[in-house]
Amino acid sequence: MSNKEIEKVHLLIIGSGPAGYTAAIYAARANMKPVLYQGIQPGGQLTITTEVENYPGYPEGIQGPEMMINFEKQAVRMGADIRYGMATKVDFSVQPYRVEIDEENWIEADAVIISTGASAKWLGIESEQRLNGFGVSACAVCDGFFFRGKEVAIVGAGDTAAEEALYLSKLCTHVHMIVRRDAMRASKVMQDRVLNAPNITVYWNSETDEILGEHKVEGVRIKNTKDNTTQDVAIGGFFVAIGHKPNSDIFKGFIDMDETGYIKTIPGTSKTNLEGVFAAGDVQDKNYRQAVTAAGSGCMAALDAERYLSTKA
Ligand code: NDP
Repeated sequence: MSNKEIEKVHLLIIGSGPAGYTAAIYAARANMKPVLYQGIQPGGQLTITTEVENYPGYPEGIQGPEMMINFEKQAVRMGADIRYGMATKVDFSVQPYRVEIDEENWIEADAVIISTGASAKWLGIESEQRLNGFGVSACAVCDGFFFRGKEVAIVGAGDTAAEEALYLSKLCTHVHMIVRRDAMRASKVMQDRVLNAPNITVYWNSETDEILGEHKVEGVRIKNTKDNTTQDVAIGGFFVAIGHKPNSDIFKGFIDMDETGYIKTIPGTSKTNLEGVFAAGDVQDKNYRQAVTAAGSGCMAALDAERYLSTKA
């Protein structure tokens, strides 16, 4: 790391979901000159959803991608410096804190807001990785369209899996839903909808033994874990909906986290174990995970950062 490569900023915001952009709006209005790096998926998880009906202020609802463009525009209008780029490493052992962008440039920041969100979890089997993008997807809303008029499978039993199974049932001829226990975790109303859908078959006590197909998904081998039998089902698309993992790997060793990688904040604040490093949004919230709660915590992080920076000054 040579000195000439290091840019110095007052407040660095990592991540561009509702938490990051809200932090940027508040910080820019408070003249903190925030620099925000958008990460690999500018706009975050809302860019892979369709209609958002529960964000206050949009009585008719709004498309997720459009909402995130609005968030970005508002942050830019307030004067935030929004940049495309990914935080790839940090060194929080020294102050100012150091963050590496795109594995090449280092930035020094007096304060950092972590709003890196969460990403879809995968099963971890070889065929899932090999056929990813060739019929394997973690987002029915994004990719379901490609399987119109075909049979598909979905694995998972939470609200996301139920919601996505129902979404797919409207596009596809049949949905095979693979559930690992004899019960679903999804809310009762969602379960009822799934169980009453004429073209959804639930496979209880079942796991994905193998996704079949050489270059694209052609089937799935479903294993019943009660009697150890398997059956092959012909499908064109395979969807994984088994939850999310917080995007916190690069902060390990510096920032306190729980056993699943969610960043710990001091209750009622956005403060982490490190002075001047704050966390907002899904990376620190495994309970609510809503756009509006993420935006609220982004506001908290900007206000906490402002107090910290003004005390330091
Ligand atoms: P959840 O963590 O709630 O559910 C994950 C599901 O995947 C569980 O049923 C789990 O099984 C299953 N699973 C996990 N790992 C595996 C694996 N390796 N193989 C097979 N199955 C696996 O995640 P969701 O994304 O569904 O939901 C996250 C949160 O968001 C929840 O609080 C949910 O209520 C909320 N949500 C609300 C919605 C709404 O209200 N409209 C819509 C979507 C989400 P098991 O049950 O056996 O652990």
